[in-house]
Amino acid sequence: MMNTSVVEVDIAKTETPSPAMILCSNPANGHALGQVAALSASEVDAAVESAHRAQKAWAKSSFKQRRAVLQHILDYLLNNADELCDYIVQDSGKTYENALLGEIFAACNKLKWLIKNGERHLRSEKVSSGLLMHKKGRIEYRPLGVVACIVPWNYPLQNIISSLGAPLMAGNAVIIKASEMVAWSSSKFQEITNQALEKEGFSSDTVQIINGYGDTGAALVRSNIQKILFIGSVGNGRRIIEGSAKNIVPVVMELGGKDPLIVCEDANLDKAVHSALGGNFINLGQNCIASERIIVHDKVYKAFLEQVSTVACALRQGPPQKDGNVDVGAMTSPLQVAIVDKLVKDAIAKGARVICGGAINEDLQGNYYPPTILADVSPDMAISYEEVFGPVMLIMRVSSDEEAIALANSTDFGLHSSVITKSRRRGEKIADQLEAGATCINDFGLCYLNQDLPFGGVKYSGFGRMNGRDGLRAYTNQKAVLSDRFPFEIPPKLFPVGASDYDVALASTRMMFSNGLIQKLKHLCKLISLSLKKNG
Ligand code: NAD
Repeated sequence: MMNTSVVEVDIAKTETPSPAMILCSNPANGHALGQVAALSASEVDAAVESAHRAQKAWAKSSFKQRRAVLQHILDYLLNNADELCDYIVQDSGKTYENALLGEIFAACNKLKWLIKNGERHLRSEKVSSGLLMHKKGRIEYRPLGVVACIVPWNYPLQNIISSLGAPLMAGNAVIIKASEMVAWSSSKFQEITNQALEKEGFSSDTVQIINGYGDTGAALVRSNIQKILFIGSVGNGRRIIEGSAKNIVPVVMELGGKDPLIVCEDANLDKAVHSALGGNFINLGQNCIASERIIVHDKVYKAFLEQVSTVACALRQGPPQKDGNVDVGAMTSPLQVAIVDKLVKDAIAKGARVICGGAINEDLQGNYYPPTILADVSPDMAISYEEVFGPVMLIMRVSSDEEAIALANSTDFGLHSSVITKSRRRGEKIADQLEAGATCINDFGLCYLNQDLPFGGVKYSGFGRMNGRDGLRAYTNQKAVLSDRFPFEIPPKLFPVGASDYDVALASTRMMFSNGLIQKLKHLCKLISLSLKKNG
């Protein structure tokens, strides 16, 4: 296994660190956490080769053994939740409540689903043999080899566990390239899979969490891997697709979003407000499926704005502790704070109205951008179509469902979407027209928690799916097998070509595929006469 160990040092007291080390600090107070080794290209190659060796044994494991390994991982998360939440909070700046529900709970939910359903979706499956009645057909879901998962920083633990579960259940080895922004906590999570694999007698090289910057990720893309799951930004998604072309490696792209949440005039406003707050301020909006654009019907615009701002403007922000001292913590990445700040400033300059927040929180030492509401946002503002990935709720006014749908579909993204209405018919009708990988009626992003539903996007939000049956089978070679049905041979005859072979083939094709009994009988007669002529 490669060296991903953490060097516990006070960065302030050290020499300038080597570029091969990632300096880690707590975004909620700026305190140094340590340094983590960034892997070079040759170290990445070595990690992949050791994963291949480990995968040979793992590919032969029974479903019972795979379930046991996943169960050990799940048990570890439950038994060590407090310690894991400490790591997550220190490295990401998020609250303890979000670390528990957004990371531990969500990861357990995925593991449980795989343990319960994985075998059912991966067992070999009999299918019809169609015209070949003397044969039997089946599909086998075989492992691919080594799967590379390149993940972002917004959910340090969940991104890792969610990415590895499905490929592992399908018999693959997995290399996860964690984000450099949360390298400190990521390097601690290696123990979770090590103990699980070793308990069942498998090599810990079967799952490896590696750290590094973009060049480490790029080296992984070029290495001897058989599938890539990329979760991250559109720009880097493009780079990965380009890199994957060299060895023709298939990719799943889980990219950004600009999700709309439509509030109809008949909506239950409490529900709409709750959904908008959850969709924007959970994890400070650092969610791919954040409901960044709240599209509100004119008739309830004022009431919605009043109600949502009453709660949002009173949210408490600061360094998180376990006693619920704050509602929201710090943002993980200073770069992301700068992006949010730039987009908000541009929108204000173009006429957006600040209801709360609207500027970096300078009173706190760390990466703090406060929960922000901008009203009267118009489509000419960059913030209305570019991903914010931060705590900014944009409120846009419409006067009809048609206008709401057109606005919702007007960006390059298509990840998630929501509609809030008391009318089921109207909800379904609007959902049907939203260009997105998912629509949640009367809630925000909850589709993600239903593991039977596929998760992924359309347009710039990516392609391929995580979760559910298809998300699991995505890590398999769906191998078609055709075998003999009977213990005796049906003599084949292809060569040499005979004088009447073409006529026989034509009569057979017409008999098999024409409609109506009379037609079929006509061609059958032709076939019989050709056969008699040939034999007689
Ligand atoms: P990012 O694209 O900057 O980085 C993601 C990962 O890619 C990191 O591990 C990074 O080191 C690596 N990387 C960077 N350059 C690379 C290269 N050239 N080759 C290979 N790997 C490279 O994204 P981020 O800032 O970490 O995360 C935020 C983005 O992720 C947002 O756009 C967000 O919407 C998206 N996201 C999507 C989902 C989803 O499921 N659709 C989930 C979470 C986040």
